Amino acid sequence: MSFNLDEESLRQIVRGVIKEMGVAPKQCACGAQKSAPAAPSVVSSVRQGNGIFSDVSEAANAAFAAYRQLCKGGMAARAKVVDIVKKMTVANAKEWGTFEYNETHIGKLEHKIGKLEIIKLVPGVEWIRPDAWSGDHGIMLEEYTPYGVIGAITPVTHSVPTIAGNIVNMVAAGNAIVFNPHPGGVKSAVKAISAFNAEIEKQLGIRNLICCIGNPTLESFDAICKNDLVSIMCITGGPGVVKAAMKSGKKSICAGPGNPPVIVDDTVDMDKAAADIIEGGCFDNNLLCIGEKEIFVLESVADKFMRALDARGAVKIGGSALDSLTKTVFAEKDGHFTLKRDLVGKDADVIARAAGLSVPKSAPMLYADVDAKHPFVMEEQMMPMIPVVVVKDFEEALEGAVRAERGYKHSAIIHSLNVGRMTDMARALNTTLFVKNGPSTCGLGLGGEGYLSYSIATATGEGISNPKTFTRRRRCVMVDNLNIF
Ligand code: NAD
Repeated sequence: MSFNLDEESLRQIVRGVIKEMGVAPKQCACGAQKSAPAAPSVVSSVRQGNGIFSDVSEAANAAFAAYRQLCKGGMAARAKVVDIVKKMTVANAKEWGTFEYNETHIGKLEHKIGKLEIIKLVPGVEWIRPDAWSGDHGIMLEEYTPYGVIGAITPVTHSVPTIAGNIVNMVAAGNAIVFNPHPGGVKSAVKAISAFNAEIEKQLGIRNLICCIGNPTLESFDAICKNDLVSIMCITGGPGVVKAAMKSGKKSICAGPGNPPVIVDDTVDMDKAAADIIEGGCFDNNLLCIGEKEIFVLESVADKFMRALDARGAVKIGGSALDSLTKTVFAEKDGHFTLKRDLVGKDADVIARAAGLSVPKSAPMLYADVDAKHPFVMEEQMMPMIPVVVVKDFEEALEGAVRAERGYKHSAIIHSLNVGRMTDMARALNTTLFVKNGPSTCGLGLGGEGYLSYSIATATGEGISNPKTFTRRRRCVMVDNLNIF
């Protein structure tokens, strides 16, 4: 007996058999799923369409066609998309925030919702203004124009917030997008992106403006980087993916990892410094890349500062509890520590339990008095266990802060009224964000001046992203005419 099967029928049979067998896709060390021959893990349970693809080249083709349609719609179409995305994100904040919390099991539910409600602070089309020049030889116009299709990588720590923020910036700049979300937050990504696309198509007739790989893997990341229709990459994630993007050969805007140090000196109110650090460092259980990750406090005020932390419900740990927590949180090999993910983004009482301690459920954070080279100081722990290093003077604090920031050029915070020290820290740390006398969140327009973004381009230097970040600057010149003076 012989069978005559075309390729697609054969594929369908293989998919069916693998599905029946319940074969799970392989897991990569970074948490991304390696593509197995199995039916895509997520798209199998989520309806395709509305921008969700399993194949990168189909997604890129669809995004490119949508980009052409967006161009035809002009600034009005971009503004409409931004409006749709902002309104839908706010209207669905509770549902999507809860969904993401239940999918990722990290952070705090109220902050997952809060991060979506503040999307209105992300800048849109109003930022796209040309620069003009007029003189004896005529006029010059420089315009901020789209790249076309952008490949975007998003983190598990803020899946939908980063996606929504990226869409607002990137579409305001005139681009379409192909997302390769973190596998740990892909269901949330698919839910929001399909809803956005359905509404964009309904209101503007543009299909697949926001494409998403429903079964994201390291291979799909690689395929996006290699696709000729994708003009640039925007990476929001840790050191692994930043390194991979930089090596890809495609221009990449990289919002990379941070490990923001805080210095507390002897010129400030300790109660306020403690309150600010808890507010910023414990937001969403310290998942924010800008969040306070280690504190350097001057010896002369250290006791008072720690009493202020205690008064706000923080719990100090030490001795064997700290040793066992350190072993649980970090893997050590030849003196090098790497973060294990189990306790990332967990509540302080859950982290305490892992250290054999019982603390009130309401405790916002744990802290420990440690030396400047402790792994909790040197690694980006992303949990509300914040080490405190007591130093004899400001110079020692500065030296420790520079070492702990590790050259990520991300964020730093100081609590001081001494302008000279602020200036010294700004120069020595050389970070993208530097917050003085407030919680780290003030650096993103939340209680401080400025605008919001979930992608802070540290490694490649574009800074806190905004629509202009995702544009090509082009010049038009009229020689000896059209100048009207
Ligand atoms: P992560 O690096 O584990 O994952 C980010 C994304 O990259 C995911 O989509 C993941 O699947 C993919 N990825 C990881 N390694 C890869 C590789 N080698 N090749 C290709 N793709 C790869 O990060 P995370 O845990 O999801 O997020 C937390 C990290 O992101 C922290 O380091 C945090 O500081 C950083 N972050 C930075 C910003 C910023 O604006 N600078 C914002 C949010 C998060």
